[in-house]
Amino acid sequence: MKKIILTGDRPTGKLHVGHYVGSLAERVRLQDSGEFDEIYIMIADAQALTDNADNPEKVRQNIINVALDYLAVGIDPNKANIFIQSMIPQLPELTCYYMNLVTVARVQRNPTVKAEIQQKNFEQSVPVGFFCYPISQASDITAFQATHVPVGEDQKPMLEQCNEIVRKFNATYGEVLVEPEIVLSSNKACLRLPGTDGKAKMSKSIGNCIYLADDAKTLKTKIMSMYTDPNHIRIEDPGQVEGNSVFTYLDAFSTPEHFAEFLPEYQCLDELKEHYTRGGLGDVKIKKFLNKVMEAKFGPIRERRREWEQRIPEVYDILKAGTAVAEKKAAETLNKVKDAMKINYFSGDDRLA
Ligand code: ATP
Ligand code: MG
Repeated sequence: MKKIILTGDRPTGKLHVGHYVGSLAERVRLQDSGEFDEIYIMIADAQALTDNADNPEKVRQNIINVALDYLAVGIDPNKANIFIQSMIPQLPELTCYYMNLVTVARVQRNPTVKAEIQQKNFEQSVPVGFFCYPISQASDITAFQATHVPVGEDQKPMLEQCNEIVRKFNATYGEVLVEPEIVLSSNKACLRLPGTDGKAKMSKSIGNCIYLADDAKTLKTKIMSMYTDPNHIRIEDPGQVEGNSVFTYLDAFSTPEHFAEFLPEYQCLDELKEHYTRGGLGDVKIKKFLNKVMEAKFGPIRERRREWEQRIPEVYDILKAGTAVAEKKAAETLNKVKDAMKINYFSGDDRLA
């Protein structure tokens, strides 16, 4: 069986360092491993519209931002097809058939949907399109016959829901769809990076982000004003590492080489944590170290993004070419789905007359 990747992002803002550790870095690693036959990376504009229906301009503007971020982190258009979701009409058609295989109660139980409804203050006014987005996500994944989906931890319930749909479809109509597996980062701190405000998740919609496009000064300002341990007031006070975003970011981004280069008085992160817990280590010192670590990682990405910003027509060509390949693949799958359901009324065995 072919090994195929499908993943993507909502164009609701520029991509941030949470996306980087949660998904982008893993995608680039998988892309460069040479182990995959096909790679599809989707800019999920139709999904973004499910909770931004009144602001299509925001979604439109961010399509190019997300594409620039992809190219900046090293997604290679010669290896991966970057495409725009709404330009693939087969996806909503698949959604339409899958909707009949899922109960309202099942979507209501989806913990990510529940959390997002609360976070967006939808309460009784959840748009039907938003409510159904896990089903549409199952279409996105299965349309490309994806075997691997590299995403952040918040997507786990979506993958579970997708696999239920695949099993239900195959049991009802015959073996057509492929069950995908989720690919999560092996670093625990990367699964759901908290925001600079210490909130559970860095998220474009909350605005607690460090963006890949942030310049060096903005990066520094955001790090220096980050949430730490509120009880660690004086340097000599013992500090708490758990729930302290600065340490979570060091877990996610720092390597032993960074210590050798920027903070040689400590061998490794465990030593630094131990000193902080004991007391006698100030927040400013660890924030300055974090800033150096993140600048080393994201400085070159920011530069590459600036270069691509000068080549926007080429970026559009990349999106157009990727979208054409993606549509062909989705059309093949839709055809198989309709054959299995015997609703290809004007062709082959399903002909009405
Ligand atoms: P929005 O607020 O519009 O939902 P978002 O910041 O949650 O935006 P998405 O486009 O929904 O970003 O997510 C894109 C991908 O990045 C998904 O695979 C998601 O799991 C991952 N991701 C998003 N935020 C984080 C985070 N803070 N840590 C790790 N992974 C993340
Ligand atoms: Mg999200």
